[in-house]
Amino acid sequence: MSTRQLLIAGNWKMNGGPYEAAELLDGLKSLKKNFTDDIDVLVCPPFVSLSMAVKYLHSSDIQVGAQNLYYEDNGAFTGEISASMLAESGCNYVLVGHSERREYFGETDDMINKKIKKAMAERIVPIICVGEKLETRKNDGHFKFVSDQIRAAYNGLDSVQALDTVIAYEPVWAIGTGVTATPEQAQEMHAFIRQELEALFGNDTAGAVRILYGGSMKPENAEELLTQEDVDGGLIGGASLSAKSFAELIVIAENLS
Ligand code: PEP
Repeated sequence: MSTRQLLIAGNWKMNGGPYEAAELLDGLKSLKKNFTDDIDVLVCPPFVSLSMAVKYLHSSDIQVGAQNLYYEDNGAFTGEISASMLAESGCNYVLVGHSERREYFGETDDMINKKIKKAMAERIVPIICVGEKLETRKNDGHFKFVSDQIRAAYNGLDSVQALDTVIAYEPVWAIGTGVTATPEQAQEMHAFIRQELEALFGNDTAGAVRILYGGSMKPENAEELLTQEDVDGGLIGGASLSAKSFAELIVIAENLS
């Protein structure tokens, strides 16, 4: 169990337009009225629901993040959303480089690095998603693969800037599959990622950056994952779409803090 403050983050993916989002947040607020200051809670709805969620959660302890951004400031980029627009909408965090974006929308390490820098310029904390496919793990290439993703993501950042980032280790084979990494597999990779951060930025930064686990985390398996030394929270997809299970995950994290 780490001394870093746990972060429980819900990635709603392409679920929850404004009405559905309001319903989900209503459910969450009615199930979970009081929060401790000991953990951070975040929801990442689709773009169209962000403003509503920010207004709705205004006086709550739940923060709002986006699932993506574009790295240009404004202009002829039809369909894209800039970091300054997210900041203006009240987002504190943004997911960057989720495996679904890498896989279905062709996001490259270079684009992800640019997005991270833009988010940070607007004081939005990037949650940098990394993780290998099953084939890569089977071939024993997972450490090298994740190392390359980390080094590319942080290219050009210094040790002070890196403090304002979060990493989410999400093995692709565990996302939305119901198959979770074992606590040992998660801890092994999280410790490796922290070593990589140490090599890049030194001990202090490496010790402060939160590394979340993502991939079929749910109330039934959260405790064994969250009690690993280098696991500092969860990025939760499916289980964040149910107010009941997300509230349960928050309670589990609070009880561990
Ligand atoms: C995710 O999409 O970031 C994720 C971890 O999804 P799930 O929890 O559904 O595996």
